[in-house]
Amino acid sequence: MSHEGIRYVSKEEQARESEENRPLPRIAITPGKVRVLLSEGKGLEIDWVDGHRSAWSFAWLRDACPCATCVEERKNEGRKIGQARPKSAELLPMYKPAAKPASAQAVGRYALQFNWLDGHSAGIYSWEYLRRNCQCPECTFAASETEGAPN
Ligand SMILES: [Zn+2]
Ligand SMILES: [Zn+2]
Repeated sequence: MSHEGIRYVSKEEQARESEENRPLPRIAITPGKVRVLLSEGKGLEIDWVDGHRSAWSFAWLRDACPCATCVEERKNEGRKIGQARPKSAELLPMYKPAAKPASAQAVGRYALQFNWLDGHSAGIYSWEYLRRNCQCPECTFAASETEGAPN
């Protein structure tokens, strides 16, 4: 009985791992309300139909750009989705304003696209991609628990 807690945790982890590859239920990737806080420069907020609320900063979104070029860049530099480039890795360290889009638009019914002020706009942020990378404390805690596995 005293080991009940330990067994519970490992079962949780197993469940979570298999869950990562499982398709998300439709209500989890259907946005009810989407707010792009452009004028505030804050970021993106989505209320999902399943009741979950997600928020991402623009800086995070820029570093999570899902286009092929950015995915390749992150892979080469060993950065995770949304992880900023370390300052020391920059050739010319200088002040850079925080990433911000000039505008954002829906792509069909499944995604959002940002036109970043740095001229980049190739990334298509699908609802599923966003939900899978939810940055709310609950989801980031769950993700940090499963980190450490290679790849
Ligand atoms: Zn990109
Ligand atoms: Zn979340």
